[in-house]
Amino acid sequence: MHRSLASVPRPSGAVEPGSTRPGGSGPAAVRYPFASPMAVPKQKQSHSRTSKRRAQHKITAPALNSCPQCHQPRRPHRVCPHCGTYGGREVVDVSDVHDHDHDH
Ligand SMILES: [Zn+2]
Repeated sequence: MHRSLASVPRPSGAVEPGSTRPGGSGPAAVRYPFASPMAVPKQKQSHSRTSKRRAQHKITAPALNSCPQCHQPRRPHRVCPHCGTYGGREVVDVSDVHDHDHDH
């Protein structure tokens, strides 16, 4: 949804840009004889666009603790991806041996 505001058709009889707000509050829209002193949005922002912006408000960075074994950053309540331990014992074998084929 990337539409230029300049391509939006104006109602007929509109005067030069910046002096009016087309599609304001009905037929009695305010027509300034000069440019509005405020920066005013041309169009109402849709609920979809507002919701998409606000969807990002809750995002936070993931919590990181340091591993008690290797002191690498590790997410809480997870097996350490660096040394493969949890609760003081090794539960996952972390080695470079891969039995499948990919780049690293
Ligand atoms: Zn570790």
